[in-house]
Amino acid sequence: MTTPVFAAMGARAVRDGLASKEFSAREIATASLERVSALNGEVHAYLETTEALALVAAARLDAAVASGTLDEIGPLAGVPVAFKDNMNLLGTHTTCSSKMLENYVSPYTATCVERTIAAGGIVLGKLNMDEFAFGSSTETSAFGPTKNPWDLSRVPGGSSGGSAAAVAAGMATITLGSDTGGSIRQPGSFCGTVAVKPTYGVVSRYGVVAFGSSLDQVGPFTRSVEDAAFIMNAIAGHDVRDCTSQVNEVDFTANLGEGVRGMRIGVVPTFMEAPGLTAEVKAKVEESIEHLRQMGAEIVEVELPNAQAAMSAYYVLGPCEAFSNMARFDSVRYGYRAEGCKDLNSQYAASREAGFGPETRRRIMLGSYLLSAGVYDAYYYPAQQVRTLITEDYVRAYEQVDCIIAPVSPRTAFKFGEVSDPTEMYLSDMFTVSINIAGNGGLSMPVGLGADTGLPVGVQLISPAFKDENMLRVAAALETVYGPAPVAPDFAAGKAGE
Ligand code: GLN
Repeated sequence: MTTPVFAAMGARAVRDGLASKEFSAREIATASLERVSALNGEVHAYLETTEALALVAAARLDAAVASGTLDEIGPLAGVPVAFKDNMNLLGTHTTCSSKMLENYVSPYTATCVERTIAAGGIVLGKLNMDEFAFGSSTETSAFGPTKNPWDLSRVPGGSSGGSAAAVAAGMATITLGSDTGGSIRQPGSFCGTVAVKPTYGVVSRYGVVAFGSSLDQVGPFTRSVEDAAFIMNAIAGHDVRDCTSQVNEVDFTANLGEGVRGMRIGVVPTFMEAPGLTAEVKAKVEESIEHLRQMGAEIVEVELPNAQAAMSAYYVLGPCEAFSNMARFDSVRYGYRAEGCKDLNSQYAASREAGFGPETRRRIMLGSYLLSAGVYDAYYYPAQQVRTLITEDYVRAYEQVDCIIAPVSPRTAFKFGEVSDPTEMYLSDMFTVSINIAGNGGLSMPVGLGADTGLPVGVQLISPAFKDENMLRVAAALETVYGPAPVAPDFAAGKAGE
């Protein structure tokens, strides 16, 4: 009998196979790790694999099967998982894809990671990203980019590019990423996976290296909406170590099968007419709207009049918060230290110059300028006012609708080096940043391939704050039309000897 590609199966199938002793958790761990080592040279999704931890997790699961206590572990039992490299996991490197943290070993574990493993995940390793999560292509990683499994000459998106590519290549069933302005949803759309940015406060950020503390949120990449709901149930909820995390009273799986009949779904005309939105992406969003209409949803036009200012506000607020968060990497408490400096100031300067890549330095310089005396009043203060206006726009829109549908990214995955101007790169997030600014939930749902490029397209579903179950319900309805996300064709057949 050939070994199945465990990391290409859904959580339910993995669990059923374990429960019926069709395979053991140890087999899942060893076959998945073999597959990662066979494929990672091509995709470069993983920066580190965690063989010992995977075997420990598997031993716990096999013991539970043997003693008949698997039910106590829950629906993620045996699922191969992996984490973006800005998430601490005791004893592993947490580099944030930066030379600054190349040798940093986590002394503790992030809450989201701990909960995923407690829920039965078999941890395979840590995943590549844009340096400190600044970027939209994973090209700013100090350790080389991740490649898009659908076309290795193209970027997987970013900053959680490794997390998206690992799921798309069947090198993990579920991965976690973080999203400050689009870093879960945009790579999800480029790699054709389900990718969820929950409402700010749903998932604890404890142990996740901060970029923009008022914007950052952790969320999953999966191939099915059901798996997304399972992992959301595992990671959501209050954590005493993150004061912004909220108590979760929602079962994210509860309404997945309810369909959209009677739901009001909003369409934002200014998003659909935005310059730069490619015809193939627009066509897919329109097609999805039509499917939802046919399934009984009421489609309503809503206005977000201030959303066009979201990019400007984000590129003030994001760098200001990043500047403040990056201050800890001073070569004394953390990080790379340049040798042979004659005093402390020159050590700071030389270490930060050599330890940070160009995009990180750009964000630090921007934030430092924007927060300086005199400049602060002209940029930071108005950006906070714009933030309030955008938040109020969403509150008003959700008086009329239960969920909004929009594009994720204006285009499909681009080629390496194709977008070299930073401002053009920033436009990747034109449809995603306003959601981080307002703090509500957004996800990317794969809806097939674009007519012109033949590459995956995602549509964005946007929930009111703390109503993330609404977007999951709409995503589940779309999944009945488009199916769960496939493993990218070149990786669908086992290349690791399966
Ligand atoms: N691409 C955006 C940026 O570069 C968003 C990144 C993110 O969400 N971490 O800031």
